[in-house]
Amino acid sequence: MAKPAAKVRPEHSNYIAGEWVAPRSGSYIENRNPADTRELVGRFPASTAEDVEQAVGVAAETFQKWRKVPAPRRAEILFKAGEILIQRKEAFAIDMTREMGKVLKETRGDVQEAIDMTYFIAGEGRRLHGYTTKAELPNKYAMCSREPIGVCGLITPWNFPMAIPSWKILPALVCGNTVVIKPAEDTPLSTYNFVSALSEAGIPPGVLNIVAGRGVEVGKALLAHEKVRLVSFTGSTEVGRIVGQSCAATDKICSLEMGGKNVIMIMEDADLDLALEGVLWGAFGTTGQRCTAASRVVVHRKVAKKFTSMLANRAKQLRLGPGLNEKTDVGPVINKDASEKILEYVEIGRREDKAKMLCGGRRAEKGDLKYGFFVEPTVFSDVEPHMRIAQEEIFGPVVSVLECRDLDHAIEIANGVKFGLSASIYTRDTNRAFHAMEDVQTGIFYVNASTIGAEVHLPFGGTKSTGNGHREGGTQVLDIFSEWKAVYVDYSGKLQRAQIDT
Ligand code: NAD
Repeated sequence: MAKPAAKVRPEHSNYIAGEWVAPRSGSYIENRNPADTRELVGRFPASTAEDVEQAVGVAAETFQKWRKVPAPRRAEILFKAGEILIQRKEAFAIDMTREMGKVLKETRGDVQEAIDMTYFIAGEGRRLHGYTTKAELPNKYAMCSREPIGVCGLITPWNFPMAIPSWKILPALVCGNTVVIKPAEDTPLSTYNFVSALSEAGIPPGVLNIVAGRGVEVGKALLAHEKVRLVSFTGSTEVGRIVGQSCAATDKICSLEMGGKNVIMIMEDADLDLALEGVLWGAFGTTGQRCTAASRVVVHRKVAKKFTSMLANRAKQLRLGPGLNEKTDVGPVINKDASEKILEYVEIGRREDKAKMLCGGRRAEKGDLKYGFFVEPTVFSDVEPHMRIAQEEIFGPVVSVLECRDLDHAIEIANGVKFGLSASIYTRDTNRAFHAMEDVQTGIFYVNASTIGAEVHLPFGGTKSTGNGHREGGTQVLDIFSEWKAVYVDYSGKLQRAQIDT
């Protein structure tokens, strides 16, 4: 087995202007393995506004040079980074499992997503297309082009600690921006690994900087800084709203990717075995801590009883354990607060009159599991749409099963939450699949597949309280990280006036 990539260093530093520099505060945050908190993964800076000031200053200065580097040259560095990531994939996956708990096959997927994004965006370096069009007047030329924006402040969550930073860093760089990234407190190491690969590939000093620390310190300082022109945030809806408000106060461009309450709809004609695999993977993969996790399952009443019992039986058999053990199905949740929040939601569900808890519902503490934060996979049946467990994002291995009368009823339930990230339908009827695809209010929709699994060349993001209209992935992400400039060239050599001269 490959060794972890990170050298055992007692203290990691910030990365500013191409140098590893200690935080001014001299304080650090411990990063411990959530599967076994006896293991210290590393100590990472508890940075302050002073560190942000230094990093943003450097990024603002470097922007003037980086924006002038031709995009295909910028992209060449990304291609090199892709090769480095491939070589270190296994080691990076192991590091990620140690710092955040998800099983190795999923952390390999997380690193692979970053590799795919690296090659995809590197290709875009030769395709930052604008367009030309006909002008209103003779001897006048009209066109538009993408321009870089400036310093981008990136704030990322802990659950996809390499994939999500890659979705932001790479398009920001290829478009000619400079970056200051603040990784999540719980999972800085994977972001460090990604940034190290980019720096080794040749990203010039000052173009890409990391300032690690707490949201209320580093995040807040990035949001307030006048030289940060754009903030791209992924995280909870609660924090996203704070980010959006702060950006409005300082006229920043702001892209928000936030929480979800995703749904799988299972019709009476569905292949129930296939649907079962989709629900298990969607609800309990990454221990239910995906923004796209399937936390609601809406089943047609004709097959609801049968399906629910199939689901509970399989959920009981899932093996909890450390993600580095290849036999583990479900790893730990990220930290103590998360396990407490999840168990609070279990209590809320148990107190509901009608809902029945069919399995799970406890912290698992047998043997060495007591050293980590393990919560048993939990299934509630007979859940009604208004209940809190069917409305709020739990972000843990808890799934609610609701019954529906027909497709229209399923769609009504699917749309009856404030979020709009991902949804899926299991049916053999293509008419119903298309009907649902059109009427369900989410940014991502699956047919006969679970609610999870994004491909980098398609747009990723949600509607309603999940996002603010932007999309990551696909060529759509370039719209976040570049600004359009319209250019008119009058070569008539005389004064010409359009009908409306604004
Ligand atoms: P979080 O909102 O607690 O934190 C996200 C980031 O914001 C972290 O880096 C944190 O330090 C920072 N932050 C916290 N308070 C801040 C403040 N006041 N100012 C500036 N920054 C601040 O989220 P999390 O627990 O890391 O991640 C889980 C959440 O992320 C879930 O809600 C999940 O659905 C969501 N998520 C969404 C997507 C998506 O693409 N829609 C993807 C992954 C995760």
